Amino acid sequence: MKAVLFEKFQEAPRLVTVDDPSPEAHGVVLKVAATGVCRSDWHGWMGHDSDIELPHIPGHELAGVVEAVGKDVTNWKVGDKVTVPFICGCGSCSECHAGHQQVCLHQEQPGFTHWGSFAEYVGIHQADLNLVSLPESMDFATAASLGCRFATSFRAVIDQGRVSAGQWVAVHGCGGVGLSAVMIAAAAGANVIGVDLDPAKLALAQDLGAVAVINGTEADVAQAIHDITRGGAHVSLDALGHPVTMTNSILCLRPRGKHIQVGLMLGEHAAPAIPMPKIVGQEIELLGSHGMQAHRYGAMLDMVASGKLDPARLVGAQISLAEAPEALINMNKFQSVGATVITRF
Ligand SMILES: [Zn+2]
Ligand SMILES: [Zn+2]
Repeated sequence: MKAVLFEKFQEAPRLVTVDDPSPEAHGVVLKVAATGVCRSDWHGWMGHDSDIELPHIPGHELAGVVEAVGKDVTNWKVGDKVTVPFICGCGSCSECHAGHQQVCLHQEQPGFTHWGSFAEYVGIHQADLNLVSLPESMDFATAASLGCRFATSFRAVIDQGRVSAGQWVAVHGCGGVGLSAVMIAAAAGANVIGVDLDPAKLALAQDLGAVAVINGTEADVAQAIHDITRGGAHVSLDALGHPVTMTNSILCLRPRGKHIQVGLMLGEHAAPAIPMPKIVGQEIELLGSHGMQAHRYGAMLDMVASGKLDPARLVGAQISLAEAPEALINMNKFQSVGATVITRF
């Protein structure tokens, strides 16, 4: 199969031909129809993820069709249209048994713990636990965007943030995760404030339901949010993963508010300084959010089917596999409006 592979961290990936994968007993092989290019792939390529063994094929935001099925798989057959969370549970640890596959103790992540979907085919482990059936009406590019950014935001806003109607929700960083969070929190009835440095992204945040936006180059972000909300946000997300957005997210909260860290903080940002006096004195909750387990996709897909959520609006450029190396290398330079998705192989 054709695949985009890198042999050293920070060295340009190449389009190469490698052997096709074959399914494990409990796994499947998918023919990849669409796969997103994500900042996490860039982190992996930079060498920030200790799970990656070289040589490596990135790619974790995928949708496709079941091509081959392992002998122990009972729920899936060749031809099924599916996606998969970027964190796949093992099915046998205590977290998986409790339904928390997103923090599985022995998790697999396509494009990190094994070869991913910047390729014509990808192998997926524990298919009965981890595959998600896609509606016929959903196009593959949209479906690919669900598995990482959109599902992560859904869990962050709905399951971790427990956002409810009338609450003020601040979203710091309006890239793919942030814009997804704006849309989801607005659909849940919250009053959403979008924060970014890029006027184009702020305009899109308003289109997607933000009632106010703040350009971080022009304002004291935390103070501006306190002014708009008359006391601070109930829930705030750092959707970017940067010490500045994380700090603003914590400082913009009202007492007993919730900060949700969604953006990854790795490399030089792995140990940020947290404003602990506010955490203690105002009983602020700090919550992480990391992907979403397959069994929660139904709720999200129902909101897509009913028209309350429209992830297709967050799909940006559609590129070919041959264009993927350049897109990956530049992922940290420009955060494009809308997710770049590989749809030609
Ligand atoms: Zn991703
Ligand atoms: Zn597990």
